[in-house]
Amino acid sequence: MAQIIDGKAVSAQIKDELKQKVAAMKAEGTQVTLAVIQVGNDPASSVYVGNKKKACEYIGIRSLAYELPEETSQEELLDLIAELNGRKDVNGILVQLPLPGHIDEDMVIGAIHPKKDVDGFHPQSVGALCIGQPGFVSCTPAGIIQLLKRSGIEITGKECVVIGRSNIVGKPMALLLLRENGTVTVAHSRTRDLKEVTKRADILVVAVGKPKMVTREYVKEGAVVIDVGIHRMEGKKLCGDVDYDSVAPVCSAITPVPGGVGPMTIAMLMNNCVESVALQAK
Ligand code: NAD
Repeated sequence: MAQIIDGKAVSAQIKDELKQKVAAMKAEGTQVTLAVIQVGNDPASSVYVGNKKKACEYIGIRSLAYELPEETSQEELLDLIAELNGRKDVNGILVQLPLPGHIDEDMVIGAIHPKKDVDGFHPQSVGALCIGQPGFVSCTPAGIIQLLKRSGIEITGKECVVIGRSNIVGKPMALLLLRENGTVTVAHSRTRDLKEVTKRADILVVAVGKPKMVTREYVKEGAVVIDVGIHRMEGKKLCGDVDYDSVAPVCSAITPVPGGVGPMTIAMLMNNCVESVALQAK
C-alpha cells in the first residue's frame, strides 16, 4: 500500500513553524510585510490572492493589497514596483500572474528587486539557484523538496525524472533535485519513449499540465510519484496529471490531488517572505 504524502499536514506544520518565527521577530521589533499586486479581476487570480492574504493573516505577516484595474498601464505598474522596491517596510513583492496582454510579464518580473522577489521568478534568483548561491526559489518546487524531506524520502543518489520543463516548475525542480544530490533527467513534450524514461525513476515528478496523463505504465514498481498538476473536471472534482487510481497500487508513495503539492506552494511563499528579512539585512 502506497504512503499517501499529506501536503495539507506538512504545509500546516510549516505555517505553524513560521507563525512562531514571525511572533519572535515581532517581539524584537521586526514586522514582516508582503505586498501583493493584482491587475484586473480574473476570478482564479482573485482566489489565489485571497488565499495568500489568509495565509499571511494566520502567520502574522502584514499584507498590503494593491488591486489595480485591468487597464493599468505597464508604466504605472513598473512605477508601483519601483516605489515598493524602495520601501524599507516592505519585504516581499508579489505580482499575481497572468497579467493582462498589454503588459510584458518578463519586464515586470525583472523589475522586482531580487531581494524582494518572494516568488523566485527573477532571472537573478534563477541564476543563483543554478550556481548554488543564496536567493529565492520558486515556491512549488521548493515545496516538493520539503514534502519529500519531511516524509522521510531520501533524494541523494536516486534516479529522479521530472516531466515538464516550465520556468516555474520543471526547470527549478530539476535544479533543486540536483542540489539534493539526485541523478536528474528532465523529460518534456519532445522526449522520445517517455514511458521508458519515466520507468527509470525512483522519484517521478509530473508537471505536464495534462489531466491523468501518467498511468501505471509510466511508473516503476516502488517509485515515489509527485503530482504537480491541478485540473478541475466536470462536476468540479479536482484531479492531477497522474491517474491516481492506476498509479497508487504500484508506487511506494504518492501525493494526492487535492491535498498534495497544492497546499505547499503558499506555505513556501510564506517561508520566502520570512526569509526575505534576513536576505535584506545582508
Ligand atoms: P506548462 O504548461 O508551462 O509546462 C508543461 C510542460 O510539460 C512543458 O514543459 C512541456 O514540455 C511538458 N509536456 C507537455 N505535454 C507533454 C507530453 N505529452 N509529454 C511530455 N511532456 C509534456 O505547465 P506548468 O506551469 O509547469 O504546470 C504544470 C502543471 O502543474 C499544471 O497542471 C499546473 O496547473 C500545475 N501547477 C500546480 C501548482 C501548484 O501549486 N500545485 C503550481 C504550478 C503549476
